[in-house]
Amino acid sequence: MKLLSEAEDVATVAERWKAQYLWKGKWGVYSGDSQKIYERLAALPSSAKAADVAAIIGNNTWIGESCSECGNKRAIIMIGQEPDYESATVWLCRACVDALINLVSRPDDEPTAPNINKGASE
Ligand SMILES: [Zn+2]
Repeated sequence: MKLLSEAEDVATVAERWKAQYLWKGKWGVYSGDSQKIYERLAALPSSAKAADVAAIIGNNTWIGESCSECGNKRAIIMIGQEPDYESATVWLCRACVDALINLVSRPDDEPTAPNINKGASE
Protein backbone atom coordinates (compact mmCIF):
# COMPACT_ATOMS: atom_id res chain seq x y z
CA MET A 1 0.00 0.00 0.00
CA LYS A 2 1.44 3.33 -1.03
CA LEU A 3 0.22 6.92 -0.86
CA LEU A 4 0.62 8.70 -4.17
CA SER A 5 1.62 12.30 -4.69
CA GLU A 6 1.70 14.55 -7.72
CA ALA A 7 4.92 16.12 -6.45
CA GLU A 8 6.68 12.74 -6.32
CA ASP A 9 5.41 11.81 -9.79
CA VAL A 10 6.67 15.13 -11.19
CA ALA A 11 10.02 14.74 -9.40
CA THR A 12 10.57 11.27 -10.90
CA VAL A 13 9.12 11.74 -14.38
CA ALA A 14 12.43 12.56 -16.12
CA GLU A 15 14.11 9.40 -14.83
CA ARG A 16 11.03 7.29 -15.62
CA TRP A 17 10.99 8.77 -19.13
CA LYS A 18 14.68 7.96 -19.56
CA ALA A 19 14.15 4.39 -18.36
CA GLN A 20 11.36 4.00 -20.93
CA TYR A 21 13.04 5.60 -23.94
CA LEU A 22 16.82 5.31 -23.51
CA TRP A 23 17.95 1.80 -24.32
CA LYS A 24 21.57 0.74 -24.79
CA GLY A 25 22.62 4.37 -25.19
CA LYS A 26 20.07 5.18 -27.92
CA TRP A 27 16.93 7.24 -27.50
CA GLY A 28 13.82 5.47 -28.68
CA VAL A 29 11.18 6.78 -31.03
CA TYR A 30 8.35 8.87 -29.68
CA SER A 31 6.05 11.34 -31.38
CA GLY A 32 8.75 13.92 -30.95
CA ASP A 33 12.38 13.77 -29.97
CA SER A 34 12.47 11.61 -26.83
CA GLN A 35 15.90 12.94 -25.82
CA LYS A 36 14.77 16.57 -26.07
CA ILE A 37 11.65 15.71 -24.07
CA TYR A 38 13.85 14.11 -21.41
CA GLU A 39 16.04 17.21 -21.25
CA ARG A 40 12.98 19.44 -20.82
CA LEU A 41 11.56 17.14 -18.12
CA ALA A 42 14.90 17.06 -16.29
CA ALA A 43 15.02 20.88 -16.33
CA LEU A 44 11.62 21.29 -14.66
CA PRO A 45 11.76 23.19 -11.36
CA SER A 46 10.70 21.41 -8.17
CA SER A 47 7.55 23.56 -8.18
CA ALA A 48 6.38 22.04 -11.49
CA LYS A 49 2.90 20.55 -11.70
CA ALA A 50 1.29 17.74 -13.68
CA ALA A 51 0.15 20.26 -16.29
CA ASP A 52 3.76 21.32 -16.91
CA VAL A 53 4.71 17.69 -17.57
CA ALA A 54 1.71 17.20 -19.86
CA ALA A 55 2.68 20.32 -21.82
CA ILE A 56 6.11 18.82 -22.53
CA ILE A 57 5.07 15.24 -23.27
CA GLY A 58 1.81 16.01 -25.01
CA ASN A 59 -0.46 13.96 -22.75
CA ASN A 60 -1.20 13.50 -19.04
CA THR A 61 -0.52 9.78 -18.73
CA TRP A 62 2.84 10.15 -16.98
CA ILE A 63 1.53 11.74 -13.79
CA GLY A 64 -0.88 9.89 -11.57
CA GLU A 65 -3.20 6.99 -12.18
CA SER A 66 -6.93 6.97 -12.69
CA CYS A 67 -9.04 5.46 -9.95
CA SER A 68 -9.60 1.74 -10.57
CA GLU A 69 -13.08 1.93 -9.00
CA CYS A 70 -14.69 5.03 -10.51
CA GLY A 71 -12.24 5.62 -13.34
CA ASN A 72 -12.64 9.35 -13.44
CA LYS A 73 -10.51 10.81 -10.68
CA ARG A 74 -6.81 10.82 -9.87
CA ALA A 75 -5.87 8.07 -7.42
CA ILE A 76 -4.38 8.95 -4.03
CA ILE A 77 -3.40 5.43 -3.00
CA MET A 78 -2.05 2.31 -4.66
CA ILE A 79 -2.92 -1.11 -3.22
CA GLY A 80 -1.56 -4.49 -4.20
CA GLN A 81 1.46 -5.50 -6.20
CA GLU A 82 3.97 -3.06 -7.65
CA PRO A 83 2.57 -2.08 -11.04
CA ASP A 84 3.81 -4.28 -13.83
CA TYR A 85 2.41 -6.21 -16.73
CA GLU A 86 -0.39 -8.38 -15.31
CA SER A 87 0.19 -7.19 -11.72
CA ALA A 88 -2.73 -7.19 -9.28
CA THR A 89 -2.70 -3.46 -8.54
CA VAL A 90 -5.58 -1.18 -7.56
CA TRP A 91 -5.57 2.63 -7.47
CA LEU A 92 -8.24 4.50 -5.49
CA CYS A 93 -9.24 8.17 -5.46
CA ARG A 94 -10.17 10.07 -2.29
CA ALA A 95 -13.92 9.63 -2.83
CA CYS A 96 -13.57 5.87 -3.30
CA VAL A 97 -11.28 5.55 -0.24
CA ASP A 98 -13.98 7.36 1.77
CA ALA A 99 -16.62 5.02 0.33
CA LEU A 100 -14.44 2.02 1.25
CA ILE A 101 -14.03 3.25 4.82
CA ASN A 102 -17.80 3.72 5.11
CA LEU A 103 -18.37 0.26 3.69
CA VAL A 104 -16.15 -1.50 6.23
CA SER A 105 -17.12 0.58 9.24
CA ARG A 106 -20.88 0.04 9.29
CA PRO A 107 -22.06 -0.01 12.90
CA ASP A 108 -23.57 -3.52 12.59
CA ASP A 109 -20.15 -4.89 11.60
CA GLU A 110 -18.25 -3.38 14.48
CA PRO A 111 -17.09 -5.87 17.05
CA THR A 112 -18.93 -5.45 20.29
CA ALA A 113 -17.33 -5.55 23.68
CA PRO A 114 -18.50 -8.38 25.89
CA ASN A 115 -21.38 -7.22 28.03
CA ILE A 116 -20.09 -7.80 31.53
CA ASN A 117 -23.41 -6.71 32.98
CA LYS A 118 -25.34 -9.25 30.98
CA GLY A 119 -27.82 -10.92 33.26
CA ALA A 120 -27.64 -8.23 35.91
CA SER A 121 -30.02 -5.98 34.05
CA GLU A 122 -32.22 -8.69 32.62
ZN1 LIG B 1 -12.63 6.64 -7.45
